[in-house]
Amino acid sequence: MSDDIHDIVIVGGGLAAAKAAETVRSDGFDGNVTVITEEPERPYERPPLSKGFLTGDKTVDEVYVHDADFYAQQNIALRVGDAVTELDTASGEVLTRSGDRLPYDRLLLATGATPRRLSLSDRPLDGIVVLRTLADSRRLAERLRAVDHVTVVGAGWIGCEVAAAARTLGAQVTMVDPLDVPLVRVLGAEVGRVFADLHTDHDVDVRMGLGVDQAGGTDTVEQVTLTDGSTIDTQLVVVGIGVTPRVDLAEGARLGVDDGIVVDQTLATHDPRILAAGDAARAWHPSLGRHIRVEHWANALNQGQTAGHNLLGAGESYDRLPYFFSDQYDLGMEYTGHAEDWDRVVFRGAPERREFLAFWLRDGRVIAGMNVNIWDVMDQIQTLIRSGVQVDPSRLANPDIPLEQLAPR
Ligand code: NAP
Repeated sequence: MSDDIHDIVIVGGGLAAAKAAETVRSDGFDGNVTVITEEPERPYERPPLSKGFLTGDKTVDEVYVHDADFYAQQNIALRVGDAVTELDTASGEVLTRSGDRLPYDRLLLATGATPRRLSLSDRPLDGIVVLRTLADSRRLAERLRAVDHVTVVGAGWIGCEVAAAARTLGAQVTMVDPLDVPLVRVLGAEVGRVFADLHTDHDVDVRMGLGVDQAGGTDTVEQVTLTDGSTIDTQLVVVGIGVTPRVDLAEGARLGVDDGIVVDQTLATHDPRILAAGDAARAWHPSLGRHIRVEHWANALNQGQTAGHNLLGAGESYDRLPYFFSDQYDLGMEYTGHAEDWDRVVFRGAPERREFLAFWLRDGRVIAGMNVNIWDVMDQIQTLIRSGVQVDPSRLANPDIPLEQLAPR
């Protein structure tokens, strides 16, 4: 650990920030650690916000990353409800909205992402919401119990999970997306159709190939008009149309930005005192051989830890394969890898029974895999991806051939 580090500032209050703060302390750093977050509360995890916390299966205590007294016990200055407004790399200071100048020897930008919004009406209408924060989720949980009909705009992860939660709570749901199939950009049409069928089978009105043109109502939304001219009576519109990485501070400090804060495999920007992690970071991935930005929980968790080590000079490479999971109704899934373009998808098992593995292949090699209602196969799938071996698709599809045989360690 370097002796010249006295002050560490962590900008952001999500999972990556919390894990980095925890890690610098567990690595033995005894200087000043400050975490600055705009949120009014201590760091929490987002996955339950669109799943169990909405349905009431998870309590708020289960959502927080750490117990309430953790930050005081660890001597971490957690500044909630504040924000960094400027990053002065020349003096090595951050300026806060509350008017303070804080020095840093090492800085982590874990600034996350902000939800994209839709302008659907000339005047503000209540009941058109996004879901990003714990406060958003609290309000949405209340509203879902009070309405008969919800329109979900966007058939991505937020859209699919909120639709499932809303149906579980008994609301009618219409899901609208201009693309042809839910989750199609990540999963492709073949696997995306499994999710279209899943939601249709749970009586969601899945309206693909359509957008929402406008919303009407007096004070609260009462109906939406779709791009085909049809109108839906609804009391709540949940907009889940993606997020934008928060890069303003990095841009202001002239750090590299390209749809995210560009960092190397140690999560360092071109200013070696400044690192970035989580949704906001576009990091060089040594195994994939390119920069990627990953907007998922596991990336925030694990990059936060690596950032913690590297704020103290460890120089650790972040080389984990992307991973995420989702739960919708009785479907649980995990996905690993990073498939942006692929030649074919191979199924193993029974997609029609929603119990299967799916593999995305490029040049005969597995670049991503997913397990649906089948568990304890993540290690084998990751080994297969990392091996880079060409696989015989018919053997890959055959559930009688153990995955280990396709990619010997
Ligand atoms: P998302 O997964 O990127 O999906 C957004 C969807 O909305 C896409 O299908 C998008 O299509 C569509 N869309 C864009 N503009 C639209 C419009 N005007 N009208 C209707 N649909 C439109 O983003 P998200 O669902 O909002 O989730 C936000 C973030 O949280 C993402 O980073 C996501 O990965 C993360 N998240 C993850 C999980 C999980 O890991 N289980 C769960 C919830 C959220 P285009 O692709 O054409 O833009």
